[in-house]
Amino acid sequence: MLVDLHTHTYPGSSCSAITYREYVNWCVDADVEAIALTNHGDTGDLRKLGPALAAEGILLLHGVEISTLFGDFVVFSPDLDYLGTLRAVQDALRPGEVPDHAAVVWVHPVAGGGRSGSAYYPGLERSVAATIEGIEVFNGNWLADRYVSQAQAIARDLGLAQTGGSDAHRVEALGRCATLLPDPVRSTADLVTALKARVTVPHRTDTERRRKRFGLF
Ligand SMILES: [Zn+2]
Ligand SMILES: [Zn+2]
Repeated sequence: MLVDLHTHTYPGSSCSAITYREYVNWCVDADVEAIALTNHGDTGDLRKLGPALAAEGILLLHGVEISTLFGDFVVFSPDLDYLGTLRAVQDALRPGEVPDHAAVVWVHPVAGGGRSGSAYYPGLERSVAATIEGIEVFNGNWLADRYVSQAQAIARDLGLAQTGGSDAHRVEALGRCATLLPDPVRSTADLVTALKARVTVPHRTDTERRRKRFGLF
């Protein structure tokens, strides 16, 4: 199953222009089976959009993005109360602080922290390796070669899962990158399991040629 693992909606992310109606309509029109919503320190839109998408037969996967001095991270967990404790800008998670039901992906690692304003520097990955399961190698906003190739190298060096996500803040950007997850994916717990097992496959679908190749979106 191909899933966009990084999306933002309004008002959960004040920087996003994607309304609930646009989000649901896009998911229906694109015929997606699942999508991950990863707003900045917000679970309100997850609680509202989960039932709305379920009514269309679409699974909403739960994530929250946090911005830290080490960069930005998306924390995935089926536990909305746990995700609700995370803030848009906060301290980096330390080893032992991530509960077993959660998995952390370092998103756009080489682009630095969006809201924290932190910058990547070579070797930073050694400081975050113990808390993360995956690296977002394809981010819809950061597809230049230097971002992608360095992210891939970090993921390979650390033996981590690799993911793709659009990081969409406008509806046109949804689905621009995505992650192939092994079927079946019935809940966020299955996503967490796939990340921990390192069995995710990142895809970029940002050009017509790539969309045709994968027959998606
Ligand atoms: Zn970010
Ligand atoms: Zn984001």
